[in-house]
Amino acid sequence: MFPSKRLAIWLLAAALAAPAGAEVLTIVTPLGARVELEATALAPGGIIVARLAGTPGVKQASLDFGKSAVRLGPPGSGLEPFGLVGLDLDLAPGPQAVSLTVRYGDGRVETARASITVGSRDFPQKKLTVAAKYVTPPKEVEERIRRESELLNLVYSIDTPRWLGDGPFALPHDGAMAPNFGERRVYNNVPRSSHAGVDIAAPAGSPVRAANSGRVVLSRDLYFSGKTVIIDHGLGLLTVYCHFSELRAKRGQNVRKGDVVGLAGSTGRSTGPHLHWSARLRQSRVDPAALVGRLELASAAQAR
Ligand SMILES: [Zn+2]
Repeated sequence: MFPSKRLAIWLLAAALAAPAGAEVLTIVTPLGARVELEATALAPGGIIVARLAGTPGVKQASLDFGKSAVRLGPPGSGLEPFGLVGLDLDLAPGPQAVSLTVRYGDGRVETARASITVGSRDFPQKKLTVAAKYVTPPKEVEERIRRESELLNLVYSIDTPRWLGDGPFALPHDGAMAPNFGERRVYNNVPRSSHAGVDIAAPAGSPVRAANSGRVVLSRDLYFSGKTVIIDHGLGLLTVYCHFSELRAKRGQNVRKGDVVGLAGSTGRSTGPHLHWSARLRQSRVDPAALVGRLELASAAQAR
């Protein structure tokens, strides 16, 4: 058979009924490939799961969403049949173009385009008082801060093509969680970047657990976030645990959901013992609270 190339301008087919709170959209291409998009929230901080729904003959599908490209494949393709897209907390509300390219085993290629509308989310403002050195760091730590910011950039760009998680996400600590993701922070009357995580009340020395299985990609003391552990769960998703009094995980170590990775504390720019918990999805700052009980993804590798 000669390969033929088709291009289709396509609209989202339907908004289907979904579990409470979830929104599911399905893109169907003219040749019948189906990709389902399910969002924890179609708003800043939300996560979209893209799933390739059993489509015969598909070799690979790629979904372009803004700066994010996600590749999906059927079992045996070396790719996962699902991928993740993060909606950064500063993402402007409004329509976002989505483009889906499907490659078939017989050489055919087709492209479908769709648009999804990202809603708005209001974030509160909060004034805080911290030691002056954390608002205007002294000269002698500028070099340290610059190096650590470069290191974090590298870590946040990790995009492991496999899903390393095991079932849904769990809370890393049983303390009360403040719903303060995205809060606009003003430190000592100086506006600073948004609060990209949630704060969990955690007494000093209490154990903090991995929210899901994965690989530890950072475990060290950082100027702003103090003793910090970062876990790679695969598919570009990382969770970050800050202000520990003690690190209990090593870089490169594989951890399972529930393993203790550190003891809560107040190291770095912190106003008292607590756990600052955040999540990154290919550089996008997403709401970690939205992960809990969600993203029950079965890796193709695990299924085989
Ligand atoms: Zn925090």
